[in-house]
Amino acid sequence: MVLDPGHNGANATHPAEINKQVPAGRGETKPCNTTGTSTNAGYPEHEFTFDVAQRVGAELTAKGIKVIYTRPDDTGIGPCVDKRAETGNKANADAVISIHADGSNAPNAHGFHVSYSSPPLNEEQGPPSTNLAKTLRDTLTNAGFETSTYLGKQGLAPRADLAGLNLSTRPTALIECGNMRNPTEAKKMTTPEGRQKYAKAITQAIETYLSPQ
Ligand code: ZN
Repeated sequence: MVLDPGHNGANATHPAEINKQVPAGRGETKPCNTTGTSTNAGYPEHEFTFDVAQRVGAELTAKGIKVIYTRPDDTGIGPCVDKRAETGNKANADAVISIHADGSNAPNAHGFHVSYSSPPLNEEQGPPSTNLAKTLRDTLTNAGFETSTYLGKQGLAPRADLAGLNLSTRPTALIECGNMRNPTEAKKMTTPEGRQKYAKAITQAIETYLSPQ
């Protein structure tokens, strides 16, 4: 299992490295990485994604599932989006999940959504990735999380412009856990208890996806 917590703690102070163009798939290029968003109170997305990924990873490891992270700490720069995809590909991961949170300026906008590469560029971006995305969507819904009120359809948002998804040769999905600018969701994301709830649901989805049908 490869876990990819979005962004990184030192991205904001290293614009030259972060803005460097890298391959993004479909013949496009994109900046190496971005700084991510934050709550109105300043709790940053990179810190949220790193903590949730660590919690998911700890639970999976305890269950005997091998976990590889795309970044080892929350104080580094990058890695670039193409390198993140490479981590999953090189590991021949059974599944790859990128963890993010959104920053919509409409404060009432809320809920999570899951993205996958569409149209698919290889076999693994087809049914394996859409199944992974749907398993995440269903498990989070069952855990009481609301699907996005402002993006995608019923919690699913197929995308052609996300480098990490385009460049992956493994089953891959990206979850935007919610809107950090929405007061209710910001509150949930800012507390360890709230992050544990996200982590528990994501862990459960991964277990369901990896268990033989
Ligand atoms: Zn993000």
